[in-house]
Amino acid sequence: MSYPIVLNFHRVTPLSGDAANPFRVMSTISPNQFRFLLQLLRLQSTFSFYPIESEPYSFSNTRLFSFHLTFDDVPSSFIRYVLPVLEHFQVPATIFVSAVNAERGFSWRDKIYYIIQYEALRKLFSKRMDKVFNRNIHPDKKEILKSSKDSVFDRTKMERDVIDPVFLPREQHFRRLIERFHPYLNWEDISQLVKHPLIRIGNHGYSHENYARLTCEEINWDIDRSHNLIQERLGFNCRHFAVPFGQIERNIHHSVDESLAKLGYRTVGWIRDSSNVDPKGGRLLHYIRVDSSSFALINMLKCWKIALRREQLVWRSKENHDEN
Ligand SMILES: [Zn+2]
Repeated sequence: MSYPIVLNFHRVTPLSGDAANPFRVMSTISPNQFRFLLQLLRLQSTFSFYPIESEPYSFSNTRLFSFHLTFDDVPSSFIRYVLPVLEHFQVPATIFVSAVNAERGFSWRDKIYYIIQYEALRKLFSKRMDKVFNRNIHPDKKEILKSSKDSVFDRTKMERDVIDPVFLPREQHFRRLIERFHPYLNWEDISQLVKHPLIRIGNHGYSHENYARLTCEEINWDIDRSHNLIQERLGFNCRHFAVPFGQIERNIHHSVDESLAKLGYRTVGWIRDSSNVDPKGGRLLHYIRVDSSSFALINMLKCWKIALRREQLVWRSKENHDEN
């Protein structure tokens, strides 16, 4: 019996600063940390890596823990810092493409990543939040990142009345940075990876919006649009989905599930412990997000905890079965 553990990464770039990562934010680990983690996992005889389409529960090998690596969004540094390491250790991985990043070079989140780089803009953001939503948000990076995607704030109002008034006067500078540093893989880059034997491509939605603050129709549109773009640009029907921000509220999981089942998706990944939620005709993957602040020990402990809990669940259901 094998237990699937999904390690979810975003940016793998030098923490000291990297040209391809001009809006350095959380969820970044250094290339050395990434190599070290893979080396560590590779050394364990009870660990194995599997491609996303395989069913780890049906593995007949004796390895206790199965890992799958996923990369969201996907920053262009993937080709330079991740791919050679995957090739070296022969580890498969899935990249979950945010279609707007591949299409346009940035998403609305990058406006926020830009704003948090400047103290003056952070203060302006905080003032707008107070004026528009009557909420006092401390102008530090973490608070702004968190509040800007919070489902309690109306999505359209947030962008129109808080983000854009702060961002638009600086838009030209932002666009120059985007053009110069090319932060995300575009369709051409991704189409090269489609042919790579270790790489699978997944859908991460179109807009990279927090689904908890979209209506059912908007969620449908977002999933359909990215699915169709992947089909048009890369020539295949995607079967794996990662929920933007990894979070999904219980009350909207049905909308996500309906849309995905209709399109024939087989896996859906998110972070929240959703043990009571079963995707239709697919598999739910529980994510463990890896970044430099929570690196190594904490994440390894989480892996063990999830694996042990799964083992207990399987054990319990076996016991019930035996009793009946
Ligand atoms: Zn993402």
